[in-house]
Amino acid sequence: MRSTLIVALGLLFVLAGMTAVPATAADYPAEDARYHSYPEMVRHIKSKAAKHPGFVRVFSIGTSYQGRKLWAAEISDNVGTDEGEPEVLFDGLHHAREHLSGEMPIYILNMLTNQYGKKTALGKRVTNLVKKRRTWIVFMVNPDGLQYDLTGSPYRSWRKNRQPTPGSSKVGTDLNRNYGYRWGCCGGSSGSPGALDYRGPRAWSSPEVRAMRDFVNSRVVNGVQRIKTHITFHTAGEQVLWPYAYTYKDLPADMTALDLATFRAMGKAMARTNGYAAKQSSSLYPTDGDMIDWMYARHRIFSFTFELYPRSGGTKRAWYPNDEVIVRENKRNRDAILYLMGKAWCPYQAQGAKYARNNCGPFFDDLEIGRGWRVNPRGSDTATDGRWVRGDPRKSPLQLGSAVSGTSVLVTGTQSGHDVDGGVTTVWSPHFRVPGNGQATLRLKYWVGLTSSAGPADAFTVRLVDTSGKRVKVLHKVSGGTGATHKPAWQFLSKKIPARFAGQRLAIELTVADRGNENIVEAGVDQVRVVAG
Ligand SMILES: [Zn+2]
Repeated sequence: MRSTLIVALGLLFVLAGMTAVPATAADYPAEDARYHSYPEMVRHIKSKAAKHPGFVRVFSIGTSYQGRKLWAAEISDNVGTDEGEPEVLFDGLHHAREHLSGEMPIYILNMLTNQYGKKTALGKRVTNLVKKRRTWIVFMVNPDGLQYDLTGSPYRSWRKNRQPTPGSSKVGTDLNRNYGYRWGCCGGSSGSPGALDYRGPRAWSSPEVRAMRDFVNSRVVNGVQRIKTHITFHTAGEQVLWPYAYTYKDLPADMTALDLATFRAMGKAMARTNGYAAKQSSSLYPTDGDMIDWMYARHRIFSFTFELYPRSGGTKRAWYPNDEVIVRENKRNRDAILYLMGKAWCPYQAQGAKYARNNCGPFFDDLEIGRGWRVNPRGSDTATDGRWVRGDPRKSPLQLGSAVSGTSVLVTGTQSGHDVDGGVTTVWSPHFRVPGNGQATLRLKYWVGLTSSAGPADAFTVRLVDTSGKRVKVLHKVSGGTGATHKPAWQFLSKKIPARFAGQRLAIELTVADRGNENIVEAGVDQVRVVAG
């Protein structure tokens, strides 16, 4: 009777074309019982959250193709409250058969909850990090793949998710080739549905990857990405890897030299703690559409791939180590995890205190990604052409084609032959807070191009505005009227912010005005910072 009912239900699902999560969940065999299947993981993290309601909250960031919840945890004091703290993300098990990569995220939850409040040196370190950070953990990005892998005897060596491919009998997309930055660009993934590294029919075609994207995108608050550092766990190879994966080039145009040096410093520091090899992700072979490339390129998050134990990968032995190694290999990464959490307030500090001072003050923007600048913020700009835009400028006689860092600048139109015409263009930075002691300095790189016919009213001006948009201070002005051409060249501007603004929220206003006829007026800005002191 009962079996008839189950068969009938199964038939119903098949007839309706639905995907059903099997009622009897697959489990690890007895000899690997210390590994967590998806249902065991869910039970475990829910009991942890119930035990520590003050600083652990579990929630779902979305659902897998087969309808399993993609469980995540938030760990912080005042959990569920946005205190503006630096945020850290960990995730595991993009690839189903990489079993140890599903254990690391559980270990991080355990370690942080077990050590919190203890009076030991480790306990104090953990307590401090839980209080001063907001830590996110996504436990299993690919639960469907894992549960399917567990149905083999013992396993199926399954890597991808369980999503059918339209127009093909093959099932599964490689979730770490489905991210949308330079997806399928460079021979670092396969277009064949049957391949192990099949990238999917299009970027973001997998619901698991879209859920990760949407969660990370949701951490942009007022133009600022709160997540600063990230590790995605894979196996195997014992490596700490940084972007980019899509190219062999150490420093392609879509990375700044400062960021590369920071990746290297952080990667090597973590590798010293766990004995892994630290290198660029493409050092073995390029992959495209992977997570860390997107995390860095789109969000400038200092994002690493850890390839866990053992040292050589690519075999059943590597994917399926005995469960006796779980505790040892998890613990091996404890200091790297704590290091990464520690650096979230200022990844640049990995290179030394001077880098923290220069790049982690009240405001930082290298203009490589959109960070919330607003063009024509009052709605009263009169320029008909050459409005401020963030982008990669073309060179022309009065416009520089270069950027100080990376490829992008704020510029009065990226095209050549389009200068500011007909009036004023204005852009505001996001607001920043002047330190309570009033000690702060605005630093930026800029250039101005003016024809000899430009008059005194044709000008590039740097001002401070308050939260109501009122102009409160002119910091710098370059104007025409000299009768000579002002050729564009990068200049360094460093101006003290007056101490009377101590504790206030201000924004930087940049304006370029063309009041005359037929004058050419252009300007560009890069590397805008407000530093303490
Ligand atoms: Zn992997």
